[in-house]
Amino acid sequence: MRITMVGLGYVGLVTAASLAEIGHHVTCVDQDENKVRQLKEGILPFYEPGLRELITNLTSKSSLTFTTSLERSCLGAEVIYIAVGTPPNDDGTVDLSSLETVALQLAGYIKADVIVVIKSTVPVGTNDYVKRLIDEHLPTPVSVDIVSNPEFLREGTALHDTFFGDRIVIGANNPDAAKVIEEINKPFNVPIVKTTLQNAEMIKYASNAFLATKISFINEIANICEKVGADIADVAKAMGMDKRIGPQFLQAGIGYGGSCFPKDTRALMQISGNVAHEFALLKAVIDVNNKQQTLLVEKAKQRFGKLDERRIAVLGLAFKPNTDDIREAASLVVIEQLLTEGATVTVYDPVAMNNAKLVLNDQVLYAESVEAALKEADMALIVTEWEIIKQADLPKWRNLMNEPIIFDGRNCFDPSKMAEHNIEYHSIGRPVSM
Ligand code: NAD
Repeated sequence: MRITMVGLGYVGLVTAASLAEIGHHVTCVDQDENKVRQLKEGILPFYEPGLRELITNLTSKSSLTFTTSLERSCLGAEVIYIAVGTPPNDDGTVDLSSLETVALQLAGYIKADVIVVIKSTVPVGTNDYVKRLIDEHLPTPVSVDIVSNPEFLREGTALHDTFFGDRIVIGANNPDAAKVIEEINKPFNVPIVKTTLQNAEMIKYASNAFLATKISFINEIANICEKVGADIADVAKAMGMDKRIGPQFLQAGIGYGGSCFPKDTRALMQISGNVAHEFALLKAVIDVNNKQQTLLVEKAKQRFGKLDERRIAVLGLAFKPNTDDIREAASLVVIEQLLTEGATVTVYDPVAMNNAKLVLNDQVLYAESVEAALKEADMALIVTEWEIIKQADLPKWRNLMNEPIIFDGRNCFDPSKMAEHNIEYHSIGRPVSM
């Protein structure tokens, strides 16, 4: 099919490449001229394992093309996907302005019957609203169907998640439109759930809120473990062996971040508030996470009293490994706390340094490697569980640091191993080892 993808962020670009890979002809559109120019040259706007190779291959076959012209991309398109950002407003509501802009532009450019698929995560009722918006502004009498197709990929494993996903959700009022989108997605060979627009919108928020709940739950258990002398690693492992619970999302740490969980949980609070439902459980999940992100620095303060004039290495900036995304990353909370305490902060991340520089500017020092960050540090704080950090040469770490003291927000190491190397090791939900 001839498909247009509007919005070339983490979701739009991965989805466009994946649809092209299974045989469709995809025209990718973004308003960001620099991004489009770079993509034409084979330069990706963000880090995602495997994506550059896939895109290079697809563009050489012309099954994936890039443009800034939404108007031209609409000519001959049978299906138009929208994957623009829906960031949070200050009050937690969802900023739909990019989506509204695209909808209004599309209304002017659509000249033949078409299906518009909304990939962006949007509050319940938004797909209906976008349909009304387009219909009201269509100068020509053509039929525009709306399909909600929320995205579940995770940054860092986005291609794997697309080709080996657990389900594809297709929400539509018109069964014919749903059928077309089902056919488009069939080659992925992933179970397809066809449902209403409202259900599809709610499935996305409910899924993310549930995963966030699992994380905050295990983090609270970890916090209690520390106080009663239990070890969260053993507790979570045995809990996860119960199939009703499952092992995933039971890793204790300093909380979730990223561009989805924080924003989507806050949005679901708003959605429930709008219908006068007090979502007490979700409020607690968010409160627990906010507190959890401050835990590492609190532990450091307890250990040292004051952190001013301390040289502190922060290892990992991305909100999780294998991405350069630092949106709402725990690292930003940690670094802000450290700077407020008067510490001198040196940071390192294998791929997120450029994004971090845009936010942190000259407030911190930027190291070229893990080792360079650790050199003469009074302590290290591990914020992202990158493989390069987990594969540490511990004797080297100990020798590089002024004092071999590590606060690990992601439980990367076995405490007994740290003790073997004479490193003082504070982690989450486990006894301190020295
Ligand atoms: P992003 O911010 O990385 O990318 C959005 C892109 O849309 C940008 O390139 C921007 O230039 C472009 N854009 C904005 N307005 C435009 C316009 N008028 N015309 C053309 N292009 C325009 O966003 P993302 O992280 O890919 O997320 C997109 C949506 O998918 C959001 O609703 C998000 O909640 C949802 N989602 C994201 C993830 C994720 O892991 N990032 C996962 C699932 C769902």
